[in-house]
Amino acid sequence: MNSKALSAGELAELTAGLNRLSKNIWWTWNQEAQDIFYDLSNRGWRNLYHNAAAILREVSDYELRARLQDPHLADKVRKVLRNFDAYLNCSDTWGKENAPELQENPVAYFSAEFGFHETLPIAAGGLGILAGDHTKSASDLGLGFCGISLFYRQGYFQQAITPDNWQSEYYTVLNPRNLPMEQVLNDKGEPFVGVVEIADVDVYFQAWKVNVGRCPVFLLDADREENEQHYRDLTLRVYGGDSTTRIMQEILLGIGGVRLLRGLGIEPSVFHMNEGHAAFLTLELAREKISEGIDFNDALSRVKAQCVFTTHTPVEAGHDRFSKDLMGYSLSQHLKSLNVSLDELMQWGRVHVEDEHELFCQTVLALKVSRSANGVSELHGQVSRQMWSSLFPNCSEDEVPIGHVTNGIHLEGWMKGTVRKWWNRKLGEDWAREINTKGFWGKLKDSEFVSDEELWALRYLLRRELIEFARRCLLLQGRRLTQGNFIAYDRLLDPDTLTIGFARRFATYKRAPLVFQQFEKIVKLAKDRLRPVQFIFAGKSHPRDDEGKKFIQHIIHLSKHSELEGHLVFLENYDVHVARMMISGCDVWLNNPRRPLEASGTSGQKISCHGGLNLSILDGWWREGYDGTNGFAIGEDEHSDSIEEQDRVDSENLFKVLSEEVLPLFYARDKLGVPRQWIQKIRNAMSTLTPEYNTWRMVQEYTKKYYLK
Ligand SMILES: *Cc1c(COP(=O)(O)O)cnc(C)c1O
Repeated sequence: MNSKALSAGELAELTAGLNRLSKNIWWTWNQEAQDIFYDLSNRGWRNLYHNAAAILREVSDYELRARLQDPHLADKVRKVLRNFDAYLNCSDTWGKENAPELQENPVAYFSAEFGFHETLPIAAGGLGILAGDHTKSASDLGLGFCGISLFYRQGYFQQAITPDNWQSEYYTVLNPRNLPMEQVLNDKGEPFVGVVEIADVDVYFQAWKVNVGRCPVFLLDADREENEQHYRDLTLRVYGGDSTTRIMQEILLGIGGVRLLRGLGIEPSVFHMNEGHAAFLTLELAREKISEGIDFNDALSRVKAQCVFTTHTPVEAGHDRFSKDLMGYSLSQHLKSLNVSLDELMQWGRVHVEDEHELFCQTVLALKVSRSANGVSELHGQVSRQMWSSLFPNCSEDEVPIGHVTNGIHLEGWMKGTVRKWWNRKLGEDWAREINTKGFWGKLKDSEFVSDEELWALRYLLRRELIEFARRCLLLQGRRLTQGNFIAYDRLLDPDTLTIGFARRFATYKRAPLVFQQFEKIVKLAKDRLRPVQFIFAGKSHPRDDEGKKFIQHIIHLSKHSELEGHLVFLENYDVHVARMMISGCDVWLNNPRRPLEASGTSGQKISCHGGLNLSILDGWWREGYDGTNGFAIGEDEHSDSIEEQDRVDSENLFKVLSEEVLPLFYARDKLGVPRQWIQKIRNAMSTLTPEYNTWRMVQEYTKKYYLK
């Protein structure tokens, strides 16, 4: 350690370095970098919601320079900046070796939402989180890759619960200056301004660049003075407004996105449409070909060579569909400039091209103009082939050209600080490199490497951290206590009790309240003196989904006014931070979607490296991940066609597994109080699931299967 005072030059270098660091979300998956911001202001860290850029604005230059005279802090900063620069400049990456052609001509990944971190809430759910994790791993792998989306200045809504337990929504305004992003400039150094024709006007847009390690993600922003308020608000909220707003957002995303890339001199070798929202990008690519002297239909057919498409859901409402009127109105200028009639264009979005009543479906367009398409798990691939088989009349169902790549998660990003530090102590400095190798997780089978006792201690620590977090949340939520049945916040939930978590979007097919269908029996389990169980729920319902809101209302009601009080809590305002606390602290992660509607699901993948176990319907990724030893399955690899029958059978099976397998195993303790067989399951889960269901594997698979020609 160097105890000499820092020179003005060194100080300037370190402060500039810290600013650069705060503007790249690499710091969110680097624990030492995160610790620096925490150390700068413990309280700011919490109050500013873990926002590094905001903390640097909170701490004055005077303070920063004074603080950096602490040799311990200065050394930490130097070291992190060294690692950061080594990361950014690394020359021997997987991407350079395995996909050199993408370095010059990257993948352009279009997605209506991206979830990176709690400070930039521009994702509505799993689709956006997946896009964020995809980008983080593309960066780690050194792949030529950039993302395109919109900058929603009010982001996705914040959830508050009214006294009658109804979800209400409010919005906060995001300030780009406090976010890990910078304005995109043109070659003259001025803000880049692009234009997209929407309906009968020209809509101007600017753009922001989020730095995700080595990969830029560009966010288009229509909030410019030139635009009427109505159009400025196109980029107000994630999936906000009606279908007119939606189609206009998608025109901006697709057509504007391609124009931005061209304006910046980026020539992607492949355009990846993450869900149909981005499908209008193909119209712009077609335009580029029309100028080569061919007609629209010909041009759009040739776009196929440039595009790949991922479909994410078999749920009907998940596929954008637009009426002919709306298409004609919103795209009127494009119809003229592309020299195509509305009737002809409509045919590209229809399964039965001549059917005048069929709406324009973005998924259909995307499937028709992509060189490859895929679902996000094996079963979802199969379901998608079935779903879209009439688009491919010359194929049998098995031959429908839709494959699959099973989703994953960005492991380091999701790993809680506690666990990162745990590995740091166990493995030393280079642990992060280790945990991304396949072989590493195999070692978890070996009790010489990690003892049962150590794993059990970690589980206790993580469960406690979650429970203390939950108590704090509930206090802030101002949870009204029922009269005469006072439970102090610091006694809510029990750190010794088997803790089951359920958190995700409250879409009805995910059936959040399913476990409470056997209400009396569940109460009995929860209140068992020797082997109790408790539940933590969280999740948002789409603002217009009243059925989802009823689910929320029902669960909160049970948590306050039923015999489950104290054994069930609902945490408001589910987001990436709440997710991180829950996936790390829960012993069991419950997922009970109506099969086969959970195309993949990813939240259950986040728990394995924390020692959690999945309890899930064999749908999506879990159908592939479950091997009989690494968690729990609800029911079999099959489902009834009747929804009522399915709900009944699944709730019975859920109760059965919970009471006959999960609880007995968790509470089967030896003399030291350690549940040996439970821990064996944790070892099996860590060693089989963690190396497979992550975005390192996933991005490599996309690259080999789809990105490279
Ligand atoms: C992982 C994650 C999701 C996806 O959860 P599923 O169970 O796959 O639906 C949604 N929201 C947040 C905040 C997440 O972190």
